[in-house]
Amino acid sequence: MGIGNLNQLANGLSSTDAMPVLFVGHGSPMNAIEDNEFSRGWHAMGQTLPRPNAILCISAHWETRGTQVTAMEKPPTIHDFGGFPRQLFEAQYPAPGSPRLAQETRDTVKSAPVAFDDGWGLDHGCWSVLKQMYPAADVPVVQLSLDYTQPAQYHYDLAKELAPLRRKGVLILGSGNMVHNLRLVRLVSGSVEDFNRPYGFDWALEANELFKKLINEDRHRELANYKSLGSAVQLAVPTPEHYLPMLYALGLKEERDSITYFNDKPLAGSLTMTSLKIDRAAI
Ligand code: ZN
Repeated sequence: MGIGNLNQLANGLSSTDAMPVLFVGHGSPMNAIEDNEFSRGWHAMGQTLPRPNAILCISAHWETRGTQVTAMEKPPTIHDFGGFPRQLFEAQYPAPGSPRLAQETRDTVKSAPVAFDDGWGLDHGCWSVLKQMYPAADVPVVQLSLDYTQPAQYHYDLAKELAPLRRKGVLILGSGNMVHNLRLVRLVSGSVEDFNRPYGFDWALEANELFKKLINEDRHRELANYKSLGSAVQLAVPTPEHYLPMLYALGLKEERDSITYFNDKPLAGSLTMTSLKIDRAAI
């Protein structure tokens, strides 16, 4: 971390132009250490974004009662998965935390108490993506949890309160999968080696296209009310945790922002890696 960054953290996060906001489909934890089209997409995104002062990550893999924010100086790398090669369990992402950003997040959110956490760290929804985006692990990272007791609209509304952080150089990153039904995963050849080969069931493609259409038309209320979007979406979102991080990103979209997609592919039948960047439209 550069001296400039350290000073900013000591004195509060400095004012910047509005940072872009990301939602990333994270897929397999192996993307953390593999060189594939998805990890390359993340890496390329890290190269093109303005350098953030800090990152606030909302991961599908941290659900709590009430909303929490990691507040430790050195968040541990959490290997919250099983059945993968030792190389993945040995991977570390030693980015610093940011008690300052934890405090700013708590101060910014007025509608709900945000508790400081010192027991979590960085789960794979967060670090598998950031290891490719910012391999030097030199940007401080804080995670914000998903309150599992709350409906989707609550998460969308909470995201809106985070908007001032964009102007403090904070990159807000939602990490999940738009379409995510692990119970229905089918590998093209039956081999796990093929997990990332593009392949989607009709309902998965239909749901993904519907999500993009509603996103492009700023129909956020319908997206928050996803349970009413029909049978394809019910299959695509059997549980909310991988979908909600997308609502956080959309809640931060302002009128002047435009949306671009990347890693827009289905895989394993019942997942999509579709990711989006929310950014100021070129004038
Ligand atoms: Zn996941």
